[in-house]
Amino acid sequence: MNTAVDADYLVVGAGATGMAFVDALLDHADRDLRVALVDRRHGAGGHWLAAYPFVRLHQASAFYGVGGRLLGGGRLQRRGPEKGLQERADQPTICAYYAELLEERRAAGQVEFHGGCDYLGDGSFRSHLTGETFEVGPRCRIVDARYLAPDIPAEMPRRFAVEPGARVIPVNDLVRVEDAPSQYVVVGSGKTATDAVVWLLGNGVDPDAICWIRPRDPWMLNRGLIQPDPAIFLGMAATLFEESAAAESLTDLFHRLEEADIMHRIDRSVEPTMARAPTLGAWELDLLRMVENVVRLGHIRSAGRGRIDLVGGTIRVADDALVVDCAAEGLKMPPLIPVWQPEVITPQPIRAGFPCFGAALTGYVEATRFDAAADDRGDAEKNRVCAPSPYANTMADWARMNVVGTRNAQAFGAEPDIKSWADGVALNPARIAPGTPSSPALDDALERLARATAPGLARLDELA
Ligand SMILES: Cc1cc2nc3c(=O)[nH]c(=O)nc-3n(C[C@H](O)[C@H](O)[C@H](O)COP(=O)(O)OP(=O)(O)OC[C@H]3O[C@@H](n4cnc5c(N)ncnc54)[C@H](O)[C@@H]3O)c2cc1C
Repeated sequence: MNTAVDADYLVVGAGATGMAFVDALLDHADRDLRVALVDRRHGAGGHWLAAYPFVRLHQASAFYGVGGRLLGGGRLQRRGPEKGLQERADQPTICAYYAELLEERRAAGQVEFHGGCDYLGDGSFRSHLTGETFEVGPRCRIVDARYLAPDIPAEMPRRFAVEPGARVIPVNDLVRVEDAPSQYVVVGSGKTATDAVVWLLGNGVDPDAICWIRPRDPWMLNRGLIQPDPAIFLGMAATLFEESAAAESLTDLFHRLEEADIMHRIDRSVEPTMARAPTLGAWELDLLRMVENVVRLGHIRSAGRGRIDLVGGTIRVADDALVVDCAAEGLKMPPLIPVWQPEVITPQPIRAGFPCFGAALTGYVEATRFDAAADDRGDAEKNRVCAPSPYANTMADWARMNVVGTRNAQAFGAEPDIKSWADGVALNPARIAPGTPSSPALDDALERLARATAPGLARLDELA
């Protein structure tokens, strides 16, 4: 017998997606709503609760979190190599932010949180601790806020064999190393691997003591241009469309973006094939380039003492080498599906990237286009206004993400109330906040954007 849960919405996943959706829904609904929030983890915050301790957001805190509360207060960094750029929250700050938001919603009686519970489907879930099963009523809307939940190395089965005598740790355990191995072998091509290399170098490890197994080389965005300042962000977008319009091929486009200082690659003699495009600081790029022992022989098959077998061959490593596993799928790329379906709402990015903005926008649209009297819940209209956009893995994906995301932004931006809401939330990187003073740089960005968007978009579509 299931315990009945009285809720208007059952949100599965209390990570960034679920929290941004719930926050916007509750803030903008014109009626009192009850939300049941379910997560198999013990609290809110999603993958950040299990992240490696030296992780930070790769982009400004202002772009992350929920629409109703600025993460980090919009402060600039006052010291260090990113002085002058917007701050980027670390793991404890992100977890504390979500814990506080959840506590406030619970105290207000708006959210009942079921931590440590597995969603079973069909509106029911089970507690890990008690085994009790719960169920919502038939009128409750289900929100799947785990559709794009990233895989992280600490929680994934190892993807390669480990032979006796080999030393392999997940990236989370790097901070617990005590015996100063003579060599670190960092495995992975994405943000986690770059974080591990930067952290090792920042803690005095000799670059020559690092072997970096990098199956693919990544393109990464210049963090200095992905900032919550419309002159900077829109100026970058304008250049992107200008260069797209002129590009002869995808490779040519990325080279042009590199010349324009928008895209970085670690090794200028290697053509990257990966474009998930997290942001990277110039100081990090300098550090990453210090590592010369880069192995490009594909994925690892097995790690043994003094030896690593890869798809493309075998390499020798030190007998005491410590292999740091940073390889996981990270961003997921399941098929795009309509956000609103009769049985489930599935938040996904809507503009290019920026998943928290997509989830908040979905919550806002759900709250404001609800007609209790109507039999249909207006889902067709909601889907027209908010179509999903994909994440990117390859360069073609990245072009497609920008095409789809820009068209979606044009669609939701044509709705006056959404435009006004989107200009008011810091999660929206392309916003011009009310009261923003005009400046020659902003005028120039807007003028170039107006000129370049249509031809740039058309060419990007061909390239994708
Ligand atoms: C290291 C790292 C850094 C990142 N940095 C940034 C950044 O700076 N900016 C940015 O925009 N994006 C960043 N991302 C991308 C990130 O994927 C998204 O930003 C976002 O945090 C994903 O949130 P989510 O809620 O979709 O997934 P999650 O945080 O994984 O939350 C999903 C939740 O669903 C729960 N769940 C899953 N299945 C079930 C089930 N059956 N029953 C109950 N609960 C379930 C999980 O326990 C989990 O807590 C980063 C990702 C990683 C891995």
